[in-house]
Amino acid sequence: MELWKELEFEIKHCSKCNLHFNRKIPVIGEGDINTPIMFVGEAPGAEEDVIGKPFVGKSGGLFTKIFNSVNLSREDVYITNIVKCHPKDNKNPEDDEIKMCSQYLETQIALINPKIIVTVGLISTKWFLKEKANIGITKLRGKIFNWEGDIKVIPIFHPSYLLRNQSTTQGSPKWNTWQDMKLIKNEYEKLKNRD
Ligand code: SF4
Repeated sequence: MELWKELEFEIKHCSKCNLHFNRKIPVIGEGDINTPIMFVGEAPGAEEDVIGKPFVGKSGGLFTKIFNSVNLSREDVYITNIVKCHPKDNKNPEDDEIKMCSQYLETQIALINPKIIVTVGLISTKWFLKEKANIGITKLRGKIFNWEGDIKVIPIFHPSYLLRNQSTTQGSPKWNTWQDMKLIKNEYEKLKNRD
């Protein structure tokens, strides 16, 4: 717990990259730090910046519904982002910002020691699956990749993308996300049954 407190203090007071100039509250992450499963998005949005929690507002509401669709709760997992401060105008974080901030993510992963990491959206997926940086999220989502030995990385669409693609017909991004969440839930249950 001491290490978590130190990490949170460091992030709250961090000015290592330009994103600190405009942020209101750094979004460190939330959820169960003893969980075997992490969800990692790209960066806090404007609403997250004000509240200091990941995935709130419209896309956060959909994110919660996505969990509920497979009887998973956000409290069962740990949710964070690649960068902890909101990029102005919702721009994608720059490479140097990602490089600086991902040191905190690496520490979070080391402390949680997850068995599954769900990458939410392309930027997060690219950070984990560097060698697949040129492949689009449409082709990567719903597949299981090995990362750093025995950690399973499973990419899914970002909820903000799903908000722009409302169809729920078979083969649509929303329908595919539901299939991906069923796969994730199944992998999670296998871990729970192993314990
Ligand atoms: S984005 Fe990360 S590295 Fe940049 S100021 Fe915020 S906490 Fe520090």
